[in-house]
Amino acid sequence: MMMRRSLIAGNWKMHTTDTEARELALAVAGNCLGVAERDVLLAPPFTVLGSVSECLKDTGILVGVQNVCWQEKGAFTGEISPTMVKAAGGVAAIVGHSERRQIFLETDELINRRVVGGLSFGLMMILCIGETREQRESGVTFAVLEKQLRGGLAGVQAKDMASIVIAYEPVWAIGTGLTASKEQAQEAHAFIRRLIAEMYEKDLAGQLRILYGGSVKPTNVDELMAQPDIDGALVGGAALDAEAFGRIVAYK
Ligand code: PEP
Repeated sequence: MMMRRSLIAGNWKMHTTDTEARELALAVAGNCLGVAERDVLLAPPFTVLGSVSECLKDTGILVGVQNVCWQEKGAFTGEISPTMVKAAGGVAAIVGHSERRQIFLETDELINRRVVGGLSFGLMMILCIGETREQRESGVTFAVLEKQLRGGLAGVQAKDMASIVIAYEPVWAIGTGLTASKEQAQEAHAFIRRLIAEMYEKDLAGQLRILYGGSVKPTNVDELMAQPDIDGALVGGAALDAEAFGRIVAYK
């Protein structure tokens, strides 16, 4: 089996003032010492990106954002450009999070512009996809994942796929305390990898990192990460607790 370097990413969502962010970043760094074989990434709000990057310099922990525009500058009120992200120390962007899709009505087409734009400026792009509870119950999970994956990656060339990470996040498991079972998660991840092999090629699919997200906690991380197609986690709530996040990063 192809070895993929695991990635544990923390999505801080709309939490932390500057003081809180510095405190949390330093505590996370303290709890992640000695886990050099995995990548760790924190995605704080834009306003504290620079502070968090500064606190984490020399720790090896990566910093990213929770969304990004496709343009470098201009009349895009409310948006942040890839160049701004990089200047503040960011190397990655999460896009297509279900909260962006559901609350802010972001479409696959818009998310795709973010993906393609972010890649063109050299950011690692973490594309989130996932089905709602109603979609799972009506048996259309794989159709939804396929639509979001094909839509989100439209126009992305094979040579850029090394900078893509997919996060499978069943919407019904985000912030709800419900987690997909290890079998449900593995089944979805294997589907995603097969589809990427079909869209690109098998070797590329074998190298792609696919993260699971949805109420990942210290108590469920070990069994999820033991699945052959799960290469890390995107963590929301537990990422705001330095001790819990440290335990997740150090999964067995
Ligand atoms: C997320 O926000 O991406 C997420 C998975 O949140 P939580 O871990 O709180 O379910």
